[in-house]
Amino acid sequence: MWRRHRQRRQGARSSASLFATYAVAGLVPIAALGAVLIRGVQQDAARQGIDQGRSQAAVIAEMAVAPALGNAGRLDEGLTADQRRHLQEATDLALFHGSVVRMRVRTFAGQVVYADDGSTAGGISTADPAFRAASTGDTAVDVVDYPDAPGGRAIRALQPVVASATGESVGVLELYLPDQAIAARLHREIVQTYWRLGGVLGGIYLVLGLIAWSTTRSLRRYAAQQEHEALHDGLTGLPNREEFRNRAAHALAAGRRDGTGGAVVLVDLNRFKEVNDTLGHHAGDELLQVVAHRLLPGLRSGDTLARLGGDEFALIMPGLEAADVLPRMNRLREELTREAVIEGVPLNVEASFGVALYPEHGSDVEELLQRADAAMYQSKRGAIDVVLYDGGGVATPTQWLVVQAELRHALQRDELFLVYQPKVDLADGAINGVEALVRWQHPERGLLPPSEFLPAAELSGVIEPLTAWVLRRAAEDQVRWLAEGRPWVVSVNISARNLETPGFAGFVADLLAEHGLPPELMLLEVTETALAGDAETAAQAVRDLAARGIGISVDDFGMGYTSLSQLRGMPIAEIKIDRAFVSDLLTDSESRAIVRSVIELAHGLGSKVTAEGVEVPEMADWLTTAGCDKAQGYLYSRPVAWRDIQRTYVAEGVIR
Ligand code: C2E
Ligand code: CA
Ligand code: CA
Repeated sequence: MWRRHRQRRQGARSSASLFATYAVAGLVPIAALGAVLIRGVQQDAARQGIDQGRSQAAVIAEMAVAPALGNAGRLDEGLTADQRRHLQEATDLALFHGSVVRMRVRTFAGQVVYADDGSTAGGISTADPAFRAASTGDTAVDVVDYPDAPGGRAIRALQPVVASATGESVGVLELYLPDQAIAARLHREIVQTYWRLGGVLGGIYLVLGLIAWSTTRSLRRYAAQQEHEALHDGLTGLPNREEFRNRAAHALAAGRRDGTGGAVVLVDLNRFKEVNDTLGHHAGDELLQVVAHRLLPGLRSGDTLARLGGDEFALIMPGLEAADVLPRMNRLREELTREAVIEGVPLNVEASFGVALYPEHGSDVEELLQRADAAMYQSKRGAIDVVLYDGGGVATPTQWLVVQAELRHALQRDELFLVYQPKVDLADGAINGVEALVRWQHPERGLLPPSEFLPAAELSGVIEPLTAWVLRRAAEDQVRWLAEGRPWVVSVNISARNLETPGFAGFVADLLAEHGLPPELMLLEVTETALAGDAETAAQAVRDLAARGIGISVDDFGMGYTSLSQLRGMPIAEIKIDRAFVSDLLTDSESRAIVRSVIELAHGLGSKVTAEGVEVPEMADWLTTAGCDKAQGYLYSRPVAWRDIQRTYVAEGVIR
């Protein structure tokens, strides 16, 4: 998850550098194209210069030199005065001004017969390929260095001198034309071309750039959208679990830095599945959106509400004072639990809130979520909607979830079984009852004691089918004992949650009736803590059970905070003194004092007293003397399978 997230971030960031890469990469072919084109333009310009020199030379030769020479024969004998004068005139013509740097008329042997500056020597060597070309009738034009020319360069043309009368080649005309004007013009043209080229290429580059820019922009937008989708819940638009972790980690780090705390809250809807099942997923979706809408306005800036999945929401509230947590949560809950009309059906929205505080309950997100989860489960279990984590160390929720799921299967596959531990009458040593204790023959983990799976079962709904299974199995076994003439009272352990389930008393009564068992033969053991505290529902259930003739036994007495007077008014059939006091009896006078007073007070309330965990005869003796009614423990028997009970005692000779 994390890695995927990081890659996405990098993706978004790299779109800027992607654009830069596009820009640079686009520049390379554009620059290469520019270089090629410019080189072509330059070559073109050079060729144009030469062409222009060539035509200019041809014009001069035809229009000025040939007519001046007139009817000349070979030039070897030099020029006539007439010819010289004509040539001089021609070279003096305005046409020539500035357009010719030097002009020589030479014989094929190279002798200068006329030069516009009057000299009789100079010119290029007759061995020069240009001279030879001209003497054989071709024209050779080159751009050469020429100090006399403006700019030090000239276009040199060598071409045959043709007498206009005969049309015959009579010598060689050596012409130097100024390159500067042509060069300047060409330069202007080249510069113009550069500009145009630059403009066009720049345009192309711009277009490419725009394409690249818009591509990278949409890529970036796509990446951002992907990132948003990956971190948010599609239905409510809230941050999802991953984003919640990010933000929570952030808030925790900030809290550590500033020395401040805050709260992590899990909110889980109650009976959401029912909405989904009865009204359809559409309605479920709508309800989730309503929940998001109702929770959001109650947040402070800096708080985050996320949907972790299903009907589970989470809050991170940095800087929330511990004292403000519960009032604020209660306000949120009130807002949330207003009636909602979903697809025309009015619904009571109910939710369980589990709160963990940081830094008190944990320093990392995972730990805090687990604790908030534990509190939330506790809230689900009890009647309280908002539960603050109280530090009780229970198995982690993930383990619970596994256990819960497996337990449901275990019930279907009959992997659970009951063992029974006898309860002995201290007065005569006879068995007068048995306590049913559940075991799980786990296919992989082997035989599991109740401590391995009951906490998870109690914190989830699984305890209900489990208790129902235990009650049914115990009733079936009891029917067989009765048939064998042993009217033992069977004790079954039940959880606080069972007492909170509406109709529980009726369920037990029906079960007993179904098996033809008298209710007095069933004792339900409930731990002291389940009856204590805010337990009006539990107390009512106890009264309902008693009204149906089913006895209640207060288990593990002495371990909780109940005083016997709190039990006054409740129809309690039996008090079981916790093992811890019994095991200390022989060594600790305080324990002895407690046990003595418990026995006395219980009798005062009309309850019988059973001592648990009696392991040695001295304990049994002391308890008998103290007036305890019954005892249970390894001294008499460990919990055993149904058919082993009688055999065990007879064999050991403990029980009469
Ligand atoms: P509990 O109701 O206090 O049950 C007595 C426990 O003490 C049993 O442990 C039993 O094996 C053990 N014990 C009995 N005699 C002695 C003794 O002399 N010395 C010592 N050291 N221990 C003795 P077990 O079976 O592991 O049960 C643990 C707890 O699990 C039970 O405590 C009860 O609270 C719960 N439990 C067991 N079966 C069920 C069930 O079917 N439903 C519910 N809701 N809870 C159950
Ligand atoms: Ca018990
Ligand atoms: Ca007990």
